[in-house]
Amino acid sequence: MTVQYRDGIEITLSDGTRVVCDADDPPGSSADGPAGDVTVVSHAHGDHFPEGEATAVCSPLTADLASARREIPLHATTDDRIELLPAGHVAGSTAALVTDPDGTRYLYTGDVCTRSRFYLDGFEPPDADVLITETTYGEPEYVFPDHETVAADIVSWLRETDEPVILFGYALGRAQKLQLLAEEAGRERLFTTDAVFRVNDVVASHLDVSFGADRYEAETELGPGDALVLPMTTARIDWIRNLAEETGALKAGFSGWAVDDAFEFRGEFDETFPLSDHCDFAELRDLVDAVDPDRVYTQHGSTDAFAETLTRRGYEATALKRNQTALGDF
Ligand SMILES: [Zn+2]
Repeated sequence: MTVQYRDGIEITLSDGTRVVCDADDPPGSSADGPAGDVTVVSHAHGDHFPEGEATAVCSPLTADLASARREIPLHATTDDRIELLPAGHVAGSTAALVTDPDGTRYLYTGDVCTRSRFYLDGFEPPDADVLITETTYGEPEYVFPDHETVAADIVSWLRETDEPVILFGYALGRAQKLQLLAEEAGRERLFTTDAVFRVNDVVASHLDVSFGADRYEAETELGPGDALVLPMTTARIDWIRNLAEETGALKAGFSGWAVDDAFEFRGEFDETFPLSDHCDFAELRDLVDAVDPDRVYTQHGSTDAFAETLTRRGYEATALKRNQTALGDF
């Protein structure tokens, strides 16, 4: 049995079945791929779902979001060996609990958050023998204030700020939460763009939540009290700069990186807030303790630092490197 980071995370079970998680081109989904492979998609962020049409073990919401975002179908299926658990990261996101025929339980978290926020329940870690976890904020300086504090700070700022505001967040995830906060703060008008509308519509059709933004059009003139939610992208950076200059709008960024004063994330914005869809360092540590695995593999972000932290705490922990086989007892 092996866990490898190749195109996505590959878990090879004792009967030879490969479970391939979050790959660009998963073998199980193409006609010439080996029979018996299983594709898992944890959530509908672009770096996690297949580039082409595919069938994967994923939530129906993830399938609908991925299909709507890039207009290529992702089909949801199920597998007796795989249980999907809400991962608390974004709408539809799931961790995969894979049970090997020999009884070994593998937990692949994908991106994960244990804090309940808005319409998302925080991830509840199950017991597993082998844990493959993301470690985006796997270093001790990344500890976030509790969610209620962060949300209240954002709402206060939105209430106190007379200027128009431009709020930046990923089209799936932060953008929906920013719309809810702007509504709660009672901004005059709330606008967003097509990429966010596509996500809003799918999320609202699956979950008990709705978003009240209007479409931002070329002729829309941002005025005092207005809020514009834009996807995080560098593609229109001049357009955004001009818009902010013309309207006097303040730009706000939202990310866990905002807890780091020195981090360049802050440089692009007038205000930043540590609103994150990931576990912070302390939550990652608690997650591992709750799963109580015999072996941990880390991926994304602070993989080495977090593996070292876990090793000091008595775990068998390895940072996954791309295209390097991790041969272990499992
Ligand atoms: Zn993600």
